[in-house]
Amino acid sequence: MTTPSPALVRDPAVSAPTVARSASPARGAIGPVIITGRGLTKHYRMGEVDVAALRGVDVDLFEGELVVLLGASGSGKSTLLNILGGLDVCTDGRVEYRGTDLSAADGDELTMYRRRHVGFVFQFYNLIPSLTARENVALVTEIADDPLAPEDALELVGLGERLDHFPAQLSGGEQQRVAVARAIAKRPDLLLCDEPTGALDFQTGVRVLAVLERLNRELGTTTAIITHNAPIAAIACRVITLSDGRIAGIEVPPRRMLAEELRW
Ligand code: ADP
Ligand code: MG
Repeated sequence: MTTPSPALVRDPAVSAPTVARSASPARGAIGPVIITGRGLTKHYRMGEVDVAALRGVDVDLFEGELVVLLGASGSGKSTLLNILGGLDVCTDGRVEYRGTDLSAADGDELTMYRRRHVGFVFQFYNLIPSLTARENVALVTEIADDPLAPEDALELVGLGERLDHFPAQLSGGEQQRVAVARAIAKRPDLLLCDEPTGALDFQTGVRVLAVLERLNRELGTTTAIITHNAPIAAIACRVITLSDGRIAGIEVPPRRMLAEELRW
């Protein structure tokens, strides 16, 4: 394995052994740029057909912010998040994580980037059915550099009383909160959530969003949430709307709402 470039190595200054590693940003206040995409283009080749998923996207995510990505199905939201998270690479364009060019990174470097810096939450929780909540989280903390204890991560998502439950003994919302605990237990710099409430009813969806909001506030984790459910955008610092592989708009909600205030 190649040595990761310096910026991909965890900065000891941000690895204090406490849960809160940075002062929680004031609501709406955001720090410096953490990741930048310029001219991001992605084409998928399907036999004879070329599908353009991204057609030149310029985007920045700022330290400590909570961004909602909106857009119709097929507009390129997942493709963009996957490229920012190092799960996929762009056909053309440049991605920089804290000044390091990820578009030039090889597979091993992208693996290190994801492992050290990025937490993912998907629509389907992807928990291992034969492992308890604690064990599902421990799978990740065992390979992380400076993780939270699985029990602490589960406590943060309100599941401190469910440590030894198996996924089948938990509701959908609780399973998604285990997935969130697993994603944040390695204390990622970026938490990328692709339709995290897509499989949940309104009440449990709000609960999951409230947990994401609290983690963003208390841990200062830069958070991006994909949804096609427009009312959810009200909890964001910024709302980025994609349309047909392009950014159609970036807005700052006039009054940022708490997840508990949402109705849809
Ligand atoms: P969204 O998340 O907004 O629904 P996606 O980023 O998943 O959109 O997809 C954008 C476009 O790229 C769609 O037309 C989709 O069909 C296409 N696409 C996405 N992933 C692939 C893939 N692995 N192979 C081929 N086409 C893909
Ligand atoms: Mg998608």
